[in-house]
Amino acid sequence: MDCPVCKNAMITLELQDVEIDYCTDCSGIWLDAGELELLLGEQEKAARLLDSFKIDSRSTEKTRKCPICRKKMHKVIVGSSKPTLLIDKCRKADGLWFDKGELQDIFERANLDEDNKIQKLLTDMFEHGQKD
Ligand SMILES: [Zn+2]
Ligand SMILES: [Zn+2]
Repeated sequence: MDCPVCKNAMITLELQDVEIDYCTDCSGIWLDAGELELLLGEQEKAARLLDSFKIDSRSTEKTRKCPICRKKMHKVIVGSSKPTLLIDKCRKADGLWFDKGELQDIFERANLDEDNKIQKLLTDMFEHGQKD
């Protein structure tokens, strides 16, 4: 699968039995449909988070193309807290695209338990994997 931003091939990483696609160039992450829920683990909080997604049709952020169906994705606002967190979502629900740091951001906003394993893994991954 190619990164929707830099078009380079992404690598597959396994986080707690969930396969995620990760771009080593821009640190973006692609999650197939349903994987965010799996990663979040806590069903109720995951549902609340997903319910908060709102399509932002006025966004001026550059649109990205879904790496699966190649159609332009929707910009979706997550929750209502500031600063606004905007992610990309396939119109056919193939999955979600997170620019660098956005997945971590979502985990922080989901108010998960402090010992959430994935949150720790993500933090490790980005703290050690950052370029520049
Ligand atoms: Zn990339
Ligand atoms: Zn798609």
